[in-house]
Amino acid sequence: MKADLKGMSLAETEAWVEGQGLPVYRAKQMRQWLFKGLVTSFQEMTNISKDLRTQLEKKARINHLEQEKAQVSRDRTTKFLFKLEDGHFIETVLIPERGHFTLCISSQAGCAMGCRFCLTARQGLKRNLTASEIVDQVIHVKRSMSEPDRLTNIVFMGMGEPLANYDAVVRALGNLISEEAMNFSHRTVTLSTCGLVPQIRKLGKDIRVNLAVSLNASDDETRSFLMPVNRKYPLKSLMEALKEFPLLNRRMITFEYVLVGGINDRDEDARRVAALLKGMRAKINLIALNPHPDLDLAPPSAERVLRFQEILIEHHFTAMIRKSKGQDISAACGQLSGKHAGCLSPVAGCK
Ligand code: SAH
Repeated sequence: MKADLKGMSLAETEAWVEGQGLPVYRAKQMRQWLFKGLVTSFQEMTNISKDLRTQLEKKARINHLEQEKAQVSRDRTTKFLFKLEDGHFIETVLIPERGHFTLCISSQAGCAMGCRFCLTARQGLKRNLTASEIVDQVIHVKRSMSEPDRLTNIVFMGMGEPLANYDAVVRALGNLISEEAMNFSHRTVTLSTCGLVPQIRKLGKDIRVNLAVSLNASDDETRSFLMPVNRKYPLKSLMEALKEFPLLNRRMITFEYVLVGGINDRDEDARRVAALLKGMRAKINLIALNPHPDLDLAPPSAERVLRFQEILIEHHFTAMIRKSKGQDISAACGQLSGKHAGCLSPVAGCK
C-alpha cells in the first residue's frame, strides 16, 4: 500500500520521510505543495529533483477526488458531487457569504444516525470517509475557485455525522487548521454533531474548533422522535457534556434548531429551549425545515419562525434565522443525498 500523504499529520509525514532514508525537511516541503500549492501530482513539486519525484511517486500517492459534476443555484451556491474510488458519492457545498465563502463538507458517505427530517439518513451509512477524502474536498474546491483565499470558513455540516468518524475527522481537522498545512483559523472551522456525548468530551481534549450541536427539540420525547440518537444520549447527558466543553475566549456553542411544523415549534418549545440553555454561552440558529417529497414533516409558517425567535431573544439569547441556500439544487441542510440527478451548469465564480 502506498502512503496516503494528505491523510497524514506533520509528525507522521516526518516519520515516513525518515523511513525512506530522506532528510526530515522533505516532509514540510511536500506538505507545502499539497496543502498550499494544492498540487495533484509529485511532478508539480518543482523544487524537488526529478529523480526524487519519481522515487516518491512509487512509494506514496496523492489522493484526489473525482468530480462528477457541479451545480450552481440561483443564489450562486455551488454543489459539488464527487465519486469516490469505490463508487460511492458524496456532496460538498460552497456557499457565498458577504465578502467570503463557506464550504460545507461531508465526513461520511451516507449516515447511520437516522434523523427523521434528513435526506442523507434515508440511504443509511455507506462508509466513513478517510482523512484525505475529507481534506481533499477543501483542496478540490479551492483549486476550482478564481480567488481561493476567499474561502475562509469550513463547516462539517454535509453528509454524515463527523463524530461517528472520529479519528479521520480529527486528523483532517489537524491538517485544516495547522499553520504549515491549510492554515484555516480554528475560529472559522465548525464541527456540527447530532450529539454523540463520549466523542464530544474527547473532542474538547483533542483539538480546538467551534462546536455546533443539532438540538432540534427541548424535551426527550420530541427529540427522540426526530433524532433516534437521543435515546442513547438523552438531553441531560448531552447538556452536561456541553457545559463542560472547553470554549475559546468569548466563543459560544452554536445550537442548530430545525423548526418542524406542529412538532417542535410552539411557544412552549421556545421557552423550554431558553430554560435548557440558561447560563450557557450559546447562540441559536433557527432553520425552517427544508421539505422534500419523501418526508412526512412540514415546515412551520414564517410567522411561527419569527415568534420562536422573538421568545428566545426575550430570554436574552442570540437567535438567528438561517435562510436556506441552494434549495433549488437540493444543496440545503438535510437535502444532500449524493444522487446525481439534475443539470450540469458552469461553476459560479470559478475558473
Ligand atoms: N450530523 C451532523 C451534521 C450534518 S446535519 C449534525 O447532525 O449536526 C447538518 C445540519 O442540517 C443539522 O443541524 C441538521 O439538523 C440540519 N438538517 C438536517 N435535515 C434538515 C432539513 N430537512 N431541513 C433543515 N435542516 C436540516
